[in-house]
Amino acid sequence: MPSGCSAPRCTNSNKDGYCCVTFPQLDPELRNKWIDAVGIADWEPSKTAVLCEVSY
Ligand SMILES: [Zn+2]
Repeated sequence: MPSGCSAPRCTNSNKDGYCCVTFPQLDPELRNKWIDAVGIADWEPSKTAVLCEVSY
């Protein structure tokens, strides 16, 4: 399954050669930073949500 970036207006995916990584599960502080970077209010990343290297 291709993993597309969770950031709005970002269509990068690891299929396109971007380095997509899942949200930090063990570091709440870093995780919140990522959620901030995504910029969606009241959004919680799913276990499989990823961000590409240019979005965080
Ligand atoms: Zn992205």
